[in-house]
Amino acid sequence: MKVLFCSSEVAEYAKTGGLADVSSALPQELIRQGIDCRVVMPLYKSIREKGIPMKHVSDISFLSGHGISSGRVFAYEHTYFIENNTYFGRDGLYSYAGKDYPDNLERFAFYSRACIEMLSLLGPFDLVHCNDWQSALIPAYIKALGIDSLATLFTIHNLAYQGIFNSSAWPILLLPEEFLRPDYMEFFGNINVLKGGIAFSDMINTVSPSYALEIQTPQFGAGLDGLLKSVSHKLTGIINGIDTAVWNPLQDRLIAQPYSCDDMSGKMQCKKDLQKRFSLDQGDHPVFGMIGRLVEQKGIDMVVDVIPELAKTGSQIVILGNGHPRHEKELLKMSSLYPGQLGIHIGFDEGLAHIIEAGSDFFLMPSAFEPCGLNQMISMRYGTIPIVTSVGGLKDTVEALGEGDNPCGLRVSSPNKDAMLSSVLQAHRIFTQEKQLVISMRNNAMKKNVGWEISAQEYMHLYQKIKRF
Ligand code: ADP
Repeated sequence: MKVLFCSSEVAEYAKTGGLADVSSALPQELIRQGIDCRVVMPLYKSIREKGIPMKHVSDISFLSGHGISSGRVFAYEHTYFIENNTYFGRDGLYSYAGKDYPDNLERFAFYSRACIEMLSLLGPFDLVHCNDWQSALIPAYIKALGIDSLATLFTIHNLAYQGIFNSSAWPILLLPEEFLRPDYMEFFGNINVLKGGIAFSDMINTVSPSYALEIQTPQFGAGLDGLLKSVSHKLTGIINGIDTAVWNPLQDRLIAQPYSCDDMSGKMQCKKDLQKRFSLDQGDHPVFGMIGRLVEQKGIDMVVDVIPELAKTGSQIVILGNGHPRHEKELLKMSSLYPGQLGIHIGFDEGLAHIIEAGSDFFLMPSAFEPCGLNQMISMRYGTIPIVTSVGGLKDTVEALGEGDNPCGLRVSSPNKDAMLSSVLQAHRIFTQEKQLVISMRNNAMKKNVGWEISAQEYMHLYQKIKRF
């Protein structure tokens, strides 16, 4: 089977979040299991600067809303890069200095249409696998161009980002006028690109079974719950894995000392290293780590709210993230209030993410919604106990204390400050008073299967199901 996997970010090359991790690890696992999987992404300026020895494969040109659009295709291993410097030769993937690029529709329409060119350049393919709004126009182009032999799967990694643009931009897409109807891509007078992915794909999936159900309700549906309910016959959920080669405490060169669940002494060294890097007091105080986009979704407000009381217990908190300027400013302001106890790093730093995962005792992830979430799985792999709400992938991947025989996390019963405080105080209590319980929870966490093998097989079954011939 031959699959074209289209994603706007792939971890080794360009990353803003979990989509990049999935777009790196899943194709690799599919290839390992026998699928001929080719990945296509834009050639951003930051990728060019990495000096990857990619090869020029072809020039492409096609009819677009602007007349003729053209670009070049480069390849490295199984990944293909679409070059167009007007669209991608700039800083950032989707935004700069906290502001989305105003021509994002045009940029990702170009990328999506270029993916169609890849079908004939590298094909024939059995299936195109699209991911999130940035590649959600591909099924619409396939439909418009009548490429009937090709099956399409659309994966929603986060329904909160739908790619909504003013309908005056419609002509640049060069799609049939009737596609801008409420049952296709029209959304309150605007263009909704993600809606096109839902409408025109043979099958849709989200990145956890719970999220697939949640998005069919008004609370989590982000305005599309009705539509998603109406297509529930072609909507399913497959849990993400993590790349267990990248995230492996026994072979991680980015952390102070490797360790495994058979010998956890390295984790103590990692904790000391983390404390030193963030100028925290040395000693066996519980360390709570948090890494992620600083947006409301991730529950950052709740974490900020409980810092004063958590600090009173002698606990330490380390936060790495970037995102909304309001949260960034607030955290920076707080960092001077709790010297020796609170460490803040604003930015995107993959090396530091490894150091925090390895050096923390607990990991904070009280998301308001979570399509899957990778950080809780990475934490478990590093023997760091996740503290999570009961939504989406957090519900599906973390067995919390009191919920089963092999607890490896703590639950925040609902996304509010009181529940959050009660969970972090529980964490502090078990850390200081129930060492054996902490050890067994760490063990359970590290033994959990968080790899891609099983989920990749589920994707293969889905591919088989929708493949035409
Ligand atoms: P989301 O995709 O919603 O951002 P996930 O938990 O699914 O959240 O995945 C986030 C990924 O991005 C993880 O690999 C995480 O470590 C990484 N990440 C997020 N923010 C940062 C940051 N500021 N620095 C380094 N890595 C980050």
